[in-house]
Amino acid sequence: MSENFQTDLLIIGSGPAGYTAGVYASRAMLEPILVQGIQPGGQLTITTDVENWPGDTMVLGPDLMTRMEEHARSIGVNVIQDHIVEVDLKNKPFRAKGDSGNIFTSKALILATGAQAKWLGLPSEDYFKGHGVSACATCDGFFFRGQEVVVVGGGNTAVEEALFLTKFASKVTLIHRRDELRADRILQQRLFENEKIVPLWNHVLVEITGENDPKSVTGLVIRNTQDGSMKTLCCSGVFIAIGHTPSSELFVDNLETREGGYIVTEPGTTRTSIPGVFAAGDLVDSTYRQAVTSAGMGCMAALDAVKFLAEAD
Ligand SMILES: Cc1cc2nc3c(=O)[nH]c(=O)nc-3n(C[C@H](O)[C@H](O)[C@H](O)COP(=O)(O)OP(=O)(O)OC[C@H]3O[C@@H](n4cnc5c(N)ncnc54)[C@H](O)[C@@H]3O)c2cc1C
Repeated sequence: MSENFQTDLLIIGSGPAGYTAGVYASRAMLEPILVQGIQPGGQLTITTDVENWPGDTMVLGPDLMTRMEEHARSIGVNVIQDHIVEVDLKNKPFRAKGDSGNIFTSKALILATGAQAKWLGLPSEDYFKGHGVSACATCDGFFFRGQEVVVVGGGNTAVEEALFLTKFASKVTLIHRRDELRADRILQQRLFENEKIVPLWNHVLVEITGENDPKSVTGLVIRNTQDGSMKTLCCSGVFIAIGHTPSSELFVDNLETREGGYIVTEPGTTRTSIPGVFAAGDLVDSTYRQAVTSAGMGCMAALDAVKFLAEAD
């Protein structure tokens, strides 16, 4: 049965940004409500080892997010399983409607709906995600020390990921479906000067191959876009670097956004173009895209919301 919830602060999203915002807001006695969305725990729930969360030498992504949820609940955050399908940011109090029919009204709002990496959509890509297939070199490059990896893409993201991976991998093959890159010239120059990177033009990824027990990548099948011929390639890791999409579709009509659909915040704050609406994490950030930076922004958003509510009273 659907319900009406009223709160000073509604947090939308249950990734590192949302849960951290919840912890800080709860400790400021705001009694926040947090709506989890269809991916409770966010992006880290689809990965395995996380080795850059301070305080944990290694933690499984899903375990880390379960702990964050438990922390938020234990400190009083009202965590609700629902997915927001409509928001009204024009009128006060703000109003959000859940997929279940729940209505949430709040004086302040923290948007922490994150982003999704773009994937090619291959079944084998899905099968090996977190087991040799990644969309984040900063997160997973370290696991491929001394091994051969492949990067798929041709824009700035792909070139940056390929350059970063040369710190660890013995060889980086950059597969691009065209015969030239879209990346900035300076990045292209760095790429061409790097002896560890081998561009493979006019090819697309057809299938990722590997072992089942334990799951691991051993190679690829690729197709030449010019003559249709197929060939195989050995590698231990595949980085899909074709961009990210922020989950901002509910907000783009009302809030200022920038290229790619990321929500714009005032520099040094989490304030959006509407007073009382704050945004944090990968929804805002196209540069760092890390759990720890998202959590940091979640903290900022809660503190900004506390200040806003205190001044509004
Ligand atoms: C495969 C992979 C591996 C990664 N590995 C690492 C790593 O090792 N270290 C690291 O620091 N980072 C890593 N990252 C990046 C990290 O996961 C993200 O930077 C971080 O999760 C972003 O946090 P966030 O809170 O902004 O959003 P997300 O984690 O994206 O969470 C967004 C949340 O919003 C919710 N949501 C979306 N829309 C709605 C809606 N309409 N209503 C309600 N809720 C909604 C979702 O359900 C989800 O809970 C990895 C990412 C991926 C994809």
